[in-house]
Amino acid sequence: MALYDRVALIGLGLIASSMAHAMREAGLAAEITGHARSAETRATALEIGLCDRVFETAAEAAEGADLVVLAVPVGAMEAIAAEIAPHLKPGATVTDVGSVKQAVIAAVAPHIPEGVHFVPGHPLAGTEHSGPRSGFATLFRNRWWLLTPPEGADPEAVARLQSLCEAMGANVETMDATHHDLVLAVTSHTPHLIAYTMVGVADHLRRVTQSEIIRYSAAGFRDFTRIAASDPTMWRDVFLTNREATLDILGRFTEELFALQRAIRLGDGDHLFEYFTRTRAIRRGIIEAGQDTSAPDFGRSAEVSTGTGKG
Ligand code: NAP
Repeated sequence: MALYDRVALIGLGLIASSMAHAMREAGLAAEITGHARSAETRATALEIGLCDRVFETAAEAAEGADLVVLAVPVGAMEAIAAEIAPHLKPGATVTDVGSVKQAVIAAVAPHIPEGVHFVPGHPLAGTEHSGPRSGFATLFRNRWWLLTPPEGADPEAVARLQSLCEAMGANVETMDATHHDLVLAVTSHTPHLIAYTMVGVADHLRRVTQSEIIRYSAAGFRDFTRIAASDPTMWRDVFLTNREATLDILGRFTEELFALQRAIRLGDGDHLFEYFTRTRAIRRGIIEAGQDTSAPDFGRSAEVSTGTGKG
């Protein structure tokens, strides 16, 4: 059953295209309109059936929509919000899927007119791929979708958006935007920065070891390279906008790294063993919570044989 008559997707990359597939599959929107910067992306969106109609401007795509989803990089949200504001239908809901919440709220909320509901959100789902062809209907299945409605947000608008996210397969939780940014700095943003750094270090070493790093690339490094292949614009914007929380967690990370470095130098095996035992338990917790597979090598060997890899 359609939850919204018309949904406008502003930005037609991985997240928006996955939403389009999921909404189509479950019949959640009677009509989907869309906008992206480039004519090529807009043409692709029509060609593969993500949208019923696409528009050159975000304002045209948002006009008359019951739900407008901002699915562009965080740094592009403010300009889009300013552009669409005068065209939003009274009673409509605006949401976003940005990976950072406080900065998006500060950029978007001032533009939202009276009578339009702003319910920020963030699906904790993704791959290292981007663009309109990278989406798939099951991306959000059994993943968290965090909503950070401001105090006094319209309960009906929040409930309807929650129903949409759940109908796309996600588990929904509401939380405060500041808390969201700290949690994500720990679980996503800082780990991405560490992956970028490790791959950068290997890139420098490559000049010394020639192609060995690629040829003998073992699971640990390969996983870093997958994360470090994520979209540069998106991740630049994440670090520029979730600065405080990322710097806080990075500071703690550096302290722990120094402690491990010291343990290695002093030959303190007990310290290392105790530390790795604690971290192993965290991995078990993630698997028990259904957020990853316990199959060896992250289930990669099964993916190769069945051809059902992500994205
Ligand atoms: P993506 O695949 O890189 O696609 C971005 C889309 O935004 C493209 O359609 C692009 O248009 C459009 N765009 C970029 N700048 C624009 C502008 N100034 N005006 C209009 N359109 C613009 O991005 P994504 O991975 O879906 O990410 C979108 C949002 O979701 C980001 O805020 C990100 O933080 C958040 N998010 C991402 C993930 C993830 O893992 N990827 C997970 C959760 C949340 P063109 O194609 O024409 O360039």
